[in-house]
Amino acid sequence: MERTYVMIKPDGVQRNLIGEIITRFERKGLKIVGLKMLQMDRAMAEKHYAEHTGKPFFEGLVSYITSGPVVAMVLEGKDVVATARAMNGATNPANAGPGTIRGDYAIEVGRNVIHASDSIDSANREIAIYFTENELCEYKKVLDDWIY
Ligand code: ADP
Ligand code: MG
Repeated sequence: MERTYVMIKPDGVQRNLIGEIITRFERKGLKIVGLKMLQMDRAMAEKHYAEHTGKPFFEGLVSYITSGPVVAMVLEGKDVVATARAMNGATNPANAGPGTIRGDYAIEVGRNVIHASDSIDSANREIAIYFTENELCEYKKVLDDWIY
């Protein structure tokens, strides 16, 4: 089953949105197979956002993402990479529709509350930054048969 990396950013944690956000993914039917809180350091931020190195917003992005704890999770489900991106909404909350996480809870692109991997390759790369193999759980839920 496909997996993706999702992260509640420091603003989401500070604004008491952890439960609200996790609830959305749970209710959708996606399975949480990895979950933890951690504080990113600069090296971790540079690794996660390597593709944005040198961009005008890069330094601001690093200081934002390292400014407080984040909640890291791995979600599993059919087409979960695309589904999590769709649930998050557009990168700039101004363009994110109502009903999406960014559309409902954010205003600024630099404080957009949530991350999700943009491809299966990115998901595999990002999951490996945050989780070891034994921190990911493979398990069956009774509800699975009502979702698939
Ligand atoms: P996404 O998170 O939707 O995959 P990007 O990969 O383009 O978006 O950018 C990574 C993150 O960098 C964004 O989620 C946002 O936190 C930040 N970011 C992107 N563009 C800007 C910008 N123009 N100004 C400030 N921050 C930005
Ligand atoms: Mg991205």
